Amino acid sequence: TEFVQVGELAKKLNVRAPEIIAKLMQMGVMATITQSIDAETATLLSAEYGCTVEVISLYEETLIQEESDEAADLVQRPPVVTIMGHVDHGKTKLLDALRETDVVATEAGGITQHIGAYQVTRPKGKITFLDTPGHAAFSAMRARGAQVTDIVVLVVAADDGVMPQTEEAISHAKDAKVPIIVAVNKIDKPSANIDRIKQDLAKFEILSEDWGGTTPFVPISALQKLNLDKLEDAILAQAEVMEVTANPKKRATGTVVEAKLDQGRGPVATILVRNGTLKIGDAFVVGLEGGKIRAMYNDRGQSVKEAGPATPVEILGLSGVPNSGDILNVMATEREAREIADKRQELARHQQAQQVKKVKLENFNETI
Ligand code: GDP
Ligand code: MG
Repeated sequence: TEFVQVGELAKKLNVRAPEIIAKLMQMGVMATITQSIDAETATLLSAEYGCTVEVISLYEETLIQEESDEAADLVQRPPVVTIMGHVDHGKTKLLDALRETDVVATEAGGITQHIGAYQVTRPKGKITFLDTPGHAAFSAMRARGAQVTDIVVLVVAADDGVMPQTEEAISHAKDAKVPIIVAVNKIDKPSANIDRIKQDLAKFEILSEDWGGTTPFVPISALQKLNLDKLEDAILAQAEVMEVTANPKKRATGTVVEAKLDQGRGPVATILVRNGTLKIGDAFVVGLEGGKIRAMYNDRGQSVKEAGPATPVEILGLSGVPNSGDILNVMATEREAREIADKRQELARHQQAQQVKKVKLENFNETI
């Protein structure tokens, strides 16, 4: 559909709206000032006032091309990990325990903030964990085209085995073509049976390395913090094989992990930077919203000036609350960011994202 609002058309043509409405009636089109007419009608009408009409695709105009990379600018970035598994197998416990392995946090201070993702620094490198275990979040993000996870850690309780949500997690990871690392949890329990887990998972073609497969199986106890370093080593080794790289020199792109309207601070969003470096003062568009980075905070609530690839940060300076999974793009100018956000708002109002086209008028009266 192509469309233009009668009121907008009148303004462009420099004619009073009632006159336009009367003309439309003569043409057999009944429309009020706030209603929209199609391109064909607008063209006929505009011709009478010496104006031409051009049909443009709003949707295409809102697509943003990421800046290209020089090979020399690509550097290794931290892997982004999602923890999945059956309920009560220890996902939350593991996320909490891993967070405490951060060597930087204890030195640099700050207080743990739950912003939807966090990063730990290990002697061998950094790892980013998405803090929202759960398959719904994973699929929702993917459905929006926001595949942010590089590696899935599949938690299976050694005293329980493969359960329905374990199977579900496996199929999500396989659909997304994301490699799995198995964390066999609760090995502190007397009833733990690691071999049974290996046997169970073999049925899903997840074969441990000692069984001739390629999937790392790390026996852990989230409760007693056993072997967490081994799990992290396995994650970093996997990331090295995958060669996860990014270019910190370019304008940032990122994904909304969570967003809310904060009583005191206004719209707040956690952005996982995917590529480039996000900086204070950057103009951006994110989903239907625009803005300029006013302040950024890390996962310990500390103010930061910039955030590189795979770093989660909470940002302030949004025009409104975006959706989880929305993509953030830093733009060259604030004006450009605002224009794109406006177009997207218009598209959203018409709710036909892919098909909507808009009539653009060249008003000769104005240009002469
Ligand atoms: P989630 O539903 O997967 O997030 O599971 P939780 O992290 O909430 O853990 C479920 C229960 O298992 C809690 O009571 C935990 O204390 C317990 N749990 C988690 N990890 C371990 C572990 O390594 N050993 C033992 N014995 N219990 C654990
Ligand atoms: Mg939980």
